Amino acid sequence: MKTILRHLVVAALCAMASSVAAADFRTVVIDAGHGGHDNGGQWGKVYEKHLALDTSTRLENILKRMGYQTVMTRRSDYFVSLPQRVAIGNRYKNAIFVSLHFNYTWKEHVCGLETFYYSREGQRLAQYVQRSLVRQTRTVDRNAKYARYYVIRNSTLPAILVEGGFVSNERERERMKSGDFREAIARGVADGIQRYRRSL
Ligand SMILES: [Zn+2]
Repeated sequence: MKTILRHLVVAALCAMASSVAAADFRTVVIDAGHGGHDNGGQWGKVYEKHLALDTSTRLENILKRMGYQTVMTRRSDYFVSLPQRVAIGNRYKNAIFVSLHFNYTWKEHVCGLETFYYSREGQRLAQYVQRSLVRQTRTVDRNAKYARYYVIRNSTLPAILVEGGFVSNERERERMKSGDFREAIARGVADGIQRYRRSL
């Protein structure tokens, strides 16, 4: 009985820790989705894994210029498992975790940007980032939403997962192919991070 109680207390403390703000965080863990044999969403020669890596690198450059430290879970086209991605992020304290993806659905008309969170602190971060993203890209707002995706559910940091538009939507796919659009996404995420940090 005592053991069970101890486990419960530990579990409760862990749950609390995961929703605490990373006060004065200076480090952003950037997680480019997919990679290697895992292409992610794909339409013709447009692969989510390439878009995610390029946008992540752009985000890293912007954040560095702003004075942040950055950690990348992958730097080129290789496979990193979801537990490995989480483990890389969870090594850091006073940090946040930002996973970058692009969306896919068989409903070709669906378009827009969305940002997912799991913890309460992740929710605050997601709301800032989503608002800045829509401002920078002037595209359809699919809002900040709760989801149980592995990397945000298991992160001990305030964590979000950004979906920067639908590879399966023709108009959005054409925009994604341009560096300007990927730069606008990176700028939107960076601006949202900055606004979130100022709010702490
Ligand atoms: Zn993805």
